[in-house]
Amino acid sequence: MKAMVLQGSSQVTSGQRPLIEATLPDPEPKASEILVRVSACGVCHTELDEIEGRTPPPHFPVVLGHQVVGRVEACGPEARRFQTGDRVGIGWIFSACGHCQFCRAGNENLCPEFRATGRDANGGYAELITIRDDFAYAIPEVFTDAEAAPLLCAGAIGYRSLRLTGMKDGQVLGLTGFGASAHLVLKMVRHRFPSAGVFVFARSERERAFALELGASWAGDTADIPPEQLDSAIDTTPVWKPVIETLAHLVPGGRLVVNAIRKENTDQDELTRLDYSAHLWMEKEIKSVANVARADISEFLELAAEIPIKPEFEEFPLAEANAALQELKARKIRGAKVLRIA
Ligand SMILES: [Zn+2]
Ligand SMILES: [Zn+2]
Repeated sequence: MKAMVLQGSSQVTSGQRPLIEATLPDPEPKASEILVRVSACGVCHTELDEIEGRTPPPHFPVVLGHQVVGRVEACGPEARRFQTGDRVGIGWIFSACGHCQFCRAGNENLCPEFRATGRDANGGYAELITIRDDFAYAIPEVFTDAEAAPLLCAGAIGYRSLRLTGMKDGQVLGLTGFGASAHLVLKMVRHRFPSAGVFVFARSERERAFALELGASWAGDTADIPPEQLDSAIDTTPVWKPVIETLAHLVPGGRLVVNAIRKENTDQDELTRLDYSAHLWMEKEIKSVANVARADISEFLELAAEIPIKPEFEEFPLAEANAALQELKARKIRGAKVLRIA
């Protein structure tokens, strides 16, 4: 099979090609695994973290990509959930132990044996992938393959982040950063909490305009003061400044949910501005979102089909994966980036 392969850590800078085109042996489905012929795979900011070594794959070479849509091409001898030809999706969670306290409580995203698609096992920047059938999801009919791909990570993690804010209708939610995940959260909030205010903080004028287009109540720069305090907020930026700014804008008892697998250290000195009385006093909370559980993905896919949420996306051929990653790093973002594979 053709694949775009990562052979070691490097920087994603213009002119560099961290992924190389390679031909790998076709994977074979064992036990309860299915073999999936990939048609679309979303490009995620986490891939930059993997390539640049903030969440490095344990082995090289590895095929990245964890927002995978395709059709079942073959089933292992014990795979029963899908049939050949079924359309399925695969997300960041590749497998978990199934018996620890976290797995038993449905939080298999916290399992010590959590394995990630496209990091701990080969992912979807390739023509074929294998995965256990109970870690794949049926894709609702309303979505095309390319529309469904970004829902599998950005959307599902956005759904989990929103759940973790504990927000209620009528409250004010802040969103810092306005990439693939945040724009889907905005659509979910508009549907589920019609009277809620959504304030978007983004550095780029283009992102702010896009947020207002999608129904944000207000959009400003990262350092702007919002018209009201925030009951809760979700931070999807890779840096620290928005964390500090947002904590200052929370109501007493407000919660900031940080949805980022790793923070870059470029502006770590911002943390020295953390002032206990301004940023944490009055029972303000800060909480991270780690990975994603299967229920987040399947529940979100249903919600997305019901609304419906159709993500904005732009497509790249598989061989142009490096260009897609470079644009993501340069924050040339309007919705999600999706690799077209077949
Ligand atoms: Zn992702
Ligand atoms: Zn477990």
